Amino acid sequence: MFYPEPIAKLIDSFSRLPGVGPKTAARLAFYVLRMKEEDVMNFAKALVNVKRNLLYCSVCCNITDTDPCRVCSDKQRDRSVICVVQEARDLVAMERTKEYHGMYHVLQGAISPMEGIGPDDIRVAELLRRLADDEVQELILATNPNIEGEATAMYLSRLVKPFQIKVTRIAHGLPVGGDLEYADEVTLSKALEGRRELS
Ligand SMILES: [Zn+2]
Repeated sequence: MFYPEPIAKLIDSFSRLPGVGPKTAARLAFYVLRMKEEDVMNFAKALVNVKRNLLYCSVCCNITDTDPCRVCSDKQRDRSVICVVQEARDLVAMERTKEYHGMYHVLQGAISPMEGIGPDDIRVAELLRRLADDEVQELILATNPNIEGEATAMYLSRLVKPFQIKVTRIAHGLPVGGDLEYADEVTLSKALEGRRELS
């Protein structure tokens, strides 16, 4: 390697991030070199903090710094509805619509036979435990409108049949193959509004 070890290590770390090639990694590393020391320290602290101080909510499996998370401990929210999303980022997207006031469940992934991800690899068991509670009347399946998201929604709708609760799927109109988190607020609000019951 032509670079001194500290910068070579930083380039290597950046290049492990998704979507960052070797050229970008080098550019970012040299940018850090020129940053103010204070900014670099804050950046480093933020990286460490995200690992040390975040945990998963014991109720909804969302990432949080308090347990239960802010949504689960909010007494104003409607506990009769649970909106099931794949990732914490999707929960944020739903919250941005300001149209939804129920609870969430974050699966932390989707079923994908191609990648060997089954129901036991995501937070399905935690969801079932919540459904045993009589309070829940509707489950909104807001997994992504792609193969994995649809497969997960189908799987869940069959699985929760014995609980005899209303199961709905958010409407299409979301870009097929897209991710929930990239949908704009209007599209997402409409998808939520137009949800249909799964038989
Ligand atoms: Zn929670």
